[in-house]
Formats: sequence, C-alpha cells, structure tokens
Amino acid sequence: MARVQLVEVTKRFGSTVAVDRVSLDIADGEFLVLVGPSGCGKSTLLRLIAGLEDVTEGAVYIGDRNVNDVPPKDRDVAMVFQNYALYPHMTVYDNMAFGLRMRKVPRDEIDRRVREAAETLGLTNLLKRRPAQLSGGQRQRVALGRAIVRDPKVFLMDEPLSNLDAQLRVQMRTELARLHQRLGTTTIYVTHDQVEAMTLGDRIAVMRDGKLQQVATPREIYARP
Ligand code: ADP
Ligand code: ADP
Repeated sequence: MARVQLVEVTKRFGSTVAVDRVSLDIADGEFLVLVGPSGCGKSTLLRLIAGLEDVTEGAVYIGDRNVNDVPPKDRDVAMVFQNYALYPHMTVYDNMAFGLRMRKVPRDEIDRRVREAAETLGLTNLLKRRPAQLSGGQRQRVALGRAIVRDPKVFLMDEPLSNLDAQLRVQMRTELARLHQRLGTTTIYVTHDQVEAMTLGDRIAVMRDGKLQQVATPREIYARP
C-alpha cells in the first residue's frame, strides 16, 4: 500500500496536451475512481502513474519515490485492462505465476501466492484450465489474480469490467469491493459506469480536456440539488 501523489503533472504528445497540470493526492489504501469523456486523458494518467510514460512536466510519487527514478522491474504497480490479455496457451496457474517467475520469485513462494489469490477469487478448481475453457467472468478473475499475486502497492484499473455482460458486471463489482476491503491496496479505477463509480469510489476525480475538474466523494458528485 502506498500514497500516490501527482504534482502539477503535464503530459504532451506533440501539440496535444493529454494531461494538463494535474495535482492529486491519493491516500494510502484509497479507492479513487477516475471518470470523464473519451480522450480526456484518463489512460495517459494511469500510464504516467505506472511509469509507462515519462511526464513532460511535474512529478508522480508512489510512497516517497519519484516514479521516474524507479527502474521498471522495481515498480510496484499492477495494471488491469478491459482487454485482459491472458496467454491462451498457458493454464490459469501459469498465467498467474508468469509475472512472478519473470521476477525470479522462488518457486514455493510463487505456489503459495498463486493458491492464495486463486482462493480469494474462487479460481481454485480452475487452475489447470486454459483461458478458452473459461467464462468471461472467470477470465476477468484470472486477470485480477495475475495482478494481486504480485502484491503491488498500487492497482491501476482501466475499465476492467467493461467487456462483461450486465449481470457479471454487477457480480464482479461486488467482488472488487470485497477484494479492496480485504487487501486495502491503493486503487485508481477508470470507468464510464456511474454505479461502479458510486459504489466503489472513496472519491471520484472528474477529468475533462486533460484537466481535473472536480475531486469529491460520490455523494457530493452525484447529489442532485
Ligand atoms: P482517455 O483514456 O480519457 O480516453 P487518453 O489518455 O487515451 O484519453 O488520451 C488523451 C489524449 O491524448 C487524446 O487526445 C489522445 O489522442 C492523446 N494521446 C494519448 N496517447 C497518445 C500517444 N501515445 N500519442 C499521441 N497522442 C496520444
Ligand atoms: P481508451 O479510449 O479505451 O481509453 P484509446 O483508444 O484512447 O483507449 O487508447 C489506447 C492506446 O492508444 C493508449 O495506450 C493510448 O496511449 C494510445 N493512443 C491514444 N490516442 C493515440 C494517438 N492519437 N496516437 C497514438 N497513440 C494513441
């Protein structure tokens, strides 16, 4: 777990200002939901926090470290996307273990973490299956499992439920809330779904044209005057 701080962060692509002087202080363990129209800079903001893009100006801190000073292999951030790219030829177990093997985590430690995550996500009986043999919701759980086995300080999620049908979305939303309650990992979560924003978010940040328009609790944001 860690506090995430953005200090006057700007990101330009040529003449496009994707992120425009954004300052944001996300508390340790907070669930921050990021909303705003397509093209307003949400994905870019996540990628800056993940250290996948360099800031043009300003700085991003995770804990007390400037993200740009941390080498990629030491970055303690896990991302979950809407197009959960699982490796089709690998089993569920191997999909979840892959990132840990890359990081040379000892075998028995990998085994312990994968089984624990599988237990948390109800995947224990599916560990030997391949992605093609899973439902959409189960695949999404494997994608989450791959992130949580790493025990990251921060989760970055970019519309992780948007490919699921309505019923599964509701179910996974409840599971995400429970997971966050249990793990308490600082989370930044992009969505277009107002119900997700309201039920999951401790606070909601509204972006428009690269700028932060408002940061407030769900109650404040969605209250009708
Ligand atoms: P959102 O996630 O809110 O849809 P993005 O962060 O993807 O928005 O994009 C914000 C703006 O930055 C858009 O105008 C987009 O076209 C531009 N942009 C994003 N990534 C790049 C890139 N790698 N190169 C050039 N322009 C980009
Ligand atoms: P979404 O709208 O689903 O958030 P986008 O289609 O905007 O996603 O962006 C997907 C990827 O393409 C991101 O990595 C983003 O940085 C990149 N991207 C977006 N716009 C551009 C652009 N104009 N030129 C190059 N890359 C871009």
